Amino acid sequence: MAVTLPIYMDNHATTPVDPRVLEAMLPYFTGKFGNAASRNHSFGWSAEEAVENARQQVASLINATSKEIIFTSGATESDNLMIKGIAEMFREKGNHIITQSIEHKAVLDTCKNLEKHGFEVTYLPVQRDGRVSLEDLKAAIKPTTILITIMYANNEIGVINPIAEIGKMAKERGIFFAVDGVQAVGKIPVDVQRDNIDLLAISAHKIYGPKGVGALYVRRRNPRVQLSAIIDGGGHERGMRSGTLNVPGIVGLGQACEIAQKEMPEESLKLRGLRDRLKAGLEARLDEVYVNGSMEHRLPNNLNMSFAYVEGESLLMGINDVAVSSGSACTSATLEPSYVLKALGVGEDLAHTSIRFGLGRFNTQEEVDYVIEKMVQVVTKLRELSPLYEMAKEGIDISKMKWQTA
Ligand SMILES: *Cc1c(COP(=O)(O)O)cnc(C)c1O
Repeated sequence: MAVTLPIYMDNHATTPVDPRVLEAMLPYFTGKFGNAASRNHSFGWSAEEAVENARQQVASLINATSKEIIFTSGATESDNLMIKGIAEMFREKGNHIITQSIEHKAVLDTCKNLEKHGFEVTYLPVQRDGRVSLEDLKAAIKPTTILITIMYANNEIGVINPIAEIGKMAKERGIFFAVDGVQAVGKIPVDVQRDNIDLLAISAHKIYGPKGVGALYVRRRNPRVQLSAIIDGGGHERGMRSGTLNVPGIVGLGQACEIAQKEMPEESLKLRGLRDRLKAGLEARLDEVYVNGSMEHRLPNNLNMSFAYVEGESLLMGINDVAVSSGSACTSATLEPSYVLKALGVGEDLAHTSIRFGLGRFNTQEEVDYVIEKMVQVVTKLRELSPLYEMAKEGIDISKMKWQTA
């Protein structure tokens, strides 16, 4: 079977809307367009009913109850709300927050903002495999610690943290535990009870739902978590998030969660199979390739690999009919290596040659085979042009070479 180009393999950045999700959403743009807060007529009632149904679908996926789900504009807002909401509500109790260095910017920048407002934040390092160390975490806890916020799975390297262990540690000490669950929810089983999670951020567009809608799980029992709102007005979502609800978006998020819950066992097996085929195919035909982060504790759909002795930009250009992400971030003038790979201890050279493959529901084996073929071709060609690769092959240790300038 021929593949259609370009191939999309960047599903950590966003996912296409599943046609079944779109179908569920459509009536809520036109015929059922009511405002879920309108209490006086059937337009409002049917919108509210749809929202409550979606709340149930989201809750079910993470083993919560529907009253514990707050709808937001996406996970960036959910991350902001869970961190700032706790910080503001409990600042009398303590001003210390613990997070880790490879969180998403929605968490890191929120924490940085709080530092400007009198909070103290500990950014834990990660281990070489990309996971946070429980020892480090334990040592960082102080009497003033009110919140631990650690992501479930990382968006660049797909590495999964020991969330249940962290949740237990937080619970024993009466510290709130807030989790950015964006990359994990819908991909691997996430259970807020088992994991002792107090707050969990979810995004629709990472799980085949629409962009611009998300949810925040807020625990209601044992303990009942209270949050300060960051958006005021109207008192929607039990006062935690005012604003007219995005009914079609919320219906889409709910439908996406229901599909994910039903299909997760089968889908994760399929994705793991494709991912392992991609990895094996690349490793069989290319030397000097390195996986970044733990393979054992990793999302089934992620592969992050560095291809030594190629130039990152040329590699990306060479595979321009395959949509993937690289470990270089273009900031205005310079090429910065990914802060995530840096934190793992990956050297700058290898970080610049890294590729994140994010497999998704709609990828096929033919696409994977095409990507292997293309990567092998391009990497091989670029290495033929690389004097460094030549020298390495001849056994010259480049790191010990003395460079001369004329
Ligand atoms: C995409 C992503 C976010 C942001 O979600 P939006 O809904 O796009 O705001 C936050 N955290 C992680 C880990 C993500 O991958």
